[in-house]
Amino acid sequence: MRQINYIVAHCTATSQTATVESIKNYWQNTLGWRNPGYNYIVEPDGRITQLQPDDKIANGVRGENHHSVHVAYIGGIDTQGNAIDNRTVAQKTSLKSLIIELQAKYPLAKVQGHRDFPGVAKACPCFDAREEYREL
Ligand SMILES: [Zn+2]
Repeated sequence: MRQINYIVAHCTATSQTATVESIKNYWQNTLGWRNPGYNYIVEPDGRITQLQPDDKIANGVRGENHHSVHVAYIGGIDTQGNAIDNRTVAQKTSLKSLIIELQAKYPLAKVQGHRDFPGVAKACPCFDAREEYREL
């Protein structure tokens, strides 16, 4: 088992109507990635899909993937392509329970957003994950 130092929250930076399959296709066929971008993805209805086992690497944050588990919600941009926190209530609930579960497995890991890593110029996940999950 690899050492997990970070539980990282992301948005997919897609429309909320994007499907898990279309996102996987983009990674494989457009970006040419062998690994998925996240270990878990949460759909607007709250459904959680595991795309990659925790002990396998997902491509969430360049240079930080070897010690991170990545969790994303589908959404994060408005119709103009601007960053927005448009999580549904179901997504918020599922994300929180998933993070609680991961924290129980990796009690030493820090919970933070993609944007909280140094040198990241993205808005992802479009909310303050450190603040939101501080009390967990
Ligand atoms: Zn991200």
